[in-house]
Amino acid sequence: MAAANDRLGSSFLKIFKHPASSYGGYDYTFVDGDPPSNYICLICTLVSRDPHQVSCCYNIYCKSCLDKHRKKNSRNGTFRCPACRELLDLRSYFKDGRMEREIKALKVQCTIEECDWKGTIGDIEAHVMACPYRMVDCSLGCGEKICCREMETHLRDCPKRIVSCQYCKDGGPHDIITSSAHLDECRSYPIKCSNEGCEFIEERFWFKYHQKRCPKAIVYCEYSNLGCDELIKREEQEKHNEEFSKEHLQMAIKQVDSLQTKCTCSSSSKVFKTSSSLKFKDDMWHSPSFYTSPGGYKMMLCVYANGYGRGKGTHMSCYTVLVPGEYDDVLGWPFEGEVTVELLNQNEDRNHKKLIIKYDDSTPKDCKERVTKTMSERWGKDRFIAHSAPEFKGIEYGFLGPRYFRVSARVTSKTKPWLV
Ligand SMILES: [Zn+2]
Ligand SMILES: [Zn+2]
Ligand SMILES: [Zn+2]
Ligand SMILES: [Zn+2]
Ligand SMILES: [Zn+2]
Ligand SMILES: [Zn+2]
Ligand SMILES: [Zn+2]
Repeated sequence: MAAANDRLGSSFLKIFKHPASSYGGYDYTFVDGDPPSNYICLICTLVSRDPHQVSCCYNIYCKSCLDKHRKKNSRNGTFRCPACRELLDLRSYFKDGRMEREIKALKVQCTIEECDWKGTIGDIEAHVMACPYRMVDCSLGCGEKICCREMETHLRDCPKRIVSCQYCKDGGPHDIITSSAHLDECRSYPIKCSNEGCEFIEERFWFKYHQKRCPKAIVYCEYSNLGCDELIKREEQEKHNEEFSKEHLQMAIKQVDSLQTKCTCSSSSKVFKTSSSLKFKDDMWHSPSFYTSPGGYKMMLCVYANGYGRGKGTHMSCYTVLVPGEYDDVLGWPFEGEVTVELLNQNEDRNHKKLIIKYDDSTPKDCKERVTKTMSERWGKDRFIAHSAPEFKGIEYGFLGPRYFRVSARVTSKTKPWLV
């Protein structure tokens, strides 16, 4: 056996030396010194795993080493012995069961340095799977590899361990619960008031109520809607009112003046033409909707040619209705003012038939309050023009139209003061 080893030489050993993990023999530290040299595989130079003997020179190889060598070098089913170059085939090597039993009984150390386990080759594979020093993935999935023995310690510190937020008591992974992602949202996180001179601290959820009341907050004077643009600490409003009482009064007077101006300004007029086929027997004609003024109330004109209510069958009736408008939110309600409707005299003698519809205290609520759907109740006159009136002279076959109506509105509802 020693002779065979000598013949191989060092260059041969280098070529065939493979990492123990890929294939080949046992790469362990032996407890009782170097194992006998006849256990050594001549291909991988380690103690043979599943030792096989060749029939040519009786040398020993791992089965996996020999199989791999054969597959790589086989020509027509034959290959050469790596030691003596003799031609071999599949029938030229045999398992050495006795040697395998001897090898499996060799004592080795655990491959992990810190572990002082010692046992036979036959037992080490089972030990390595359960060795307390082996490295495993953190069971909470933080991505770290942990020595098995230290897992318990790691889990107490692992960034993925479940903890409760110290403020709101919500549970979650430590790295999330203590991060700004949570603390910036945590409803119980203590917030300190940042207003100068205020020492107030409160949980985030309740803090907003303090913000609205903080006596140290810098706010506009409560008369800013009158035009006072002083910035003061909230707690100093009363003191400011005393100092500025004259100025505040002047601002109020100025505002009343401008409100009055605005009321008389809210007027505009429009002319509508009825459909040319309008007949006496038609139920109702209504104009397109219009605004009393830019940014004002939205309404429509309704005309019943054959009359409505007390005018039915004898008169033309005329009303206005409120419809939902774009500015309703900022307008004062109920609508108050006058709508003037004129049926224009087409003979141009300016003798137009005029109706003034007053929206005031005597107007029913349903006619003047804000509407959100369809339209308000009609408000106007049942008996606007009698069918026998000169306006309708010479009408044949009941055809009325086309007729021209002019509508103008004067609004007196109080506009919200802060809109002025
Ligand atoms: Zn080998
Ligand atoms: Zn041989
Ligand atoms: Zn071990
Ligand atoms: Zn972990
Ligand atoms: Zn929290
Ligand atoms: Zn405060
Ligand atoms: Zn003021």
